[in-house]
Amino acid sequence: MKYAAPTTVDDARSLLADNPGSRVFAGATDLVPQFRGGRPSPPLLVDLKHIDRLMSLTHEDGQWTVGAALPTSQLTGNAGFTAAFPGLAEAAGLIGSDQIQNRSSLGGNLANASPAADSVPALLVNGAQAVVATADGTRTVPARDIATGPGQTSLAEGEFIIEFTLADPPAGTGEAYLRMIPRSEMDIAIVGAAVRLTVDGAAVTDARVVLGAVAPTAVSVPDAEAALTGAALTDGGLDDATLAAIADAASTVCNPIDDKRGTIAYRRQVAGVLAKRAAAIAAERARNGA
Ligand SMILES: Cc1cc2nc3c(=O)[nH]c(=O)nc-3n(C[C@H](O)[C@H](O)[C@H](O)COP(=O)(O)OP(=O)(O)OC[C@H]3O[C@@H](n4cnc5c(N)ncnc54)[C@H](O)[C@@H]3O)c2cc1C
Repeated sequence: MKYAAPTTVDDARSLLADNPGSRVFAGATDLVPQFRGGRPSPPLLVDLKHIDRLMSLTHEDGQWTVGAALPTSQLTGNAGFTAAFPGLAEAAGLIGSDQIQNRSSLGGNLANASPAADSVPALLVNGAQAVVATADGTRTVPARDIATGPGQTSLAEGEFIIEFTLADPPAGTGEAYLRMIPRSEMDIAIVGAAVRLTVDGAAVTDARVVLGAVAPTAVSVPDAEAALTGAALTDGGLDDATLAAIADAASTVCNPIDDKRGTIAYRRQVAGVLAKRAAAIAAERARNGA
């Protein structure tokens, strides 16, 4: 297996075009365990971390741009980013350990296409767009269109994610991410729930709810979003009927696997509990920011 460390997007694109079957990587925190587990090695590994654009984090003209290979510890360590996207920062801060987070990237978390990837539901509720390097240019697609199934993506051979763009959330927006793991640390989510709410005065005007680890890809919960949109916010937060509707919708939309880490019934129930808890936190944050 050969290794290359290009310093520009163009050089990476050429290397991938000239070496069919090669793979890109950022932190390699998914890739190396996969090789150790017996996955065939590619002829060439292309390290994306030496390309400045893929390692940068900027905020300009109401938009955040996150390099696809940037270590997630640089997101959780950025006060402006965590204030703008507390749920996405929470999700990034749950990946593995400090050591893992000094390597792991949002690009790798999404392109690895694990249904349980923690940052993905939070990327989706924030409407993240992925800028993808193609054979002869770039294309921008919603991040939700990248993972198509476990280990499967819509990226063509030779394509890679350059960066993600996220618009500043509107005033009065709060978001949160919660996950359930069978152990207290270093485990994969059996359910993840991201919720983003925007409030205007005492009512929710926009709601997004996305679950991870309960279907082949992250899933939206439109019935929960409908229950939240227009819901009143009191001093006590969302009312019990709204929270019950969110939980019911989240449990219903699940299509989880049944394995030693959780039964289908358990995952469904936990999805409902986490969705309503994440909504309550997002509502509190939205009120505080409104
Ligand atoms: C001990 C341990 C604990 C972990 N805990 C968690 C956890 O709690 N939650 C969680 O979600 N994950 C966890 N992971 C998985 C992993 O750390 C994350 O998925 C991480 O975000 C992957 O990022 P990476 O940069 O290391 O990806 P890499 O391993 O570099 O790449 C992963 C895949 O994505 C592709 N890829 C990488 N970058 C790009 C790009 N820019 N464009 C296109 N394709 C790309 C690679 O070819 C590869 O197929 C854990 C891993 C380990 C080893």
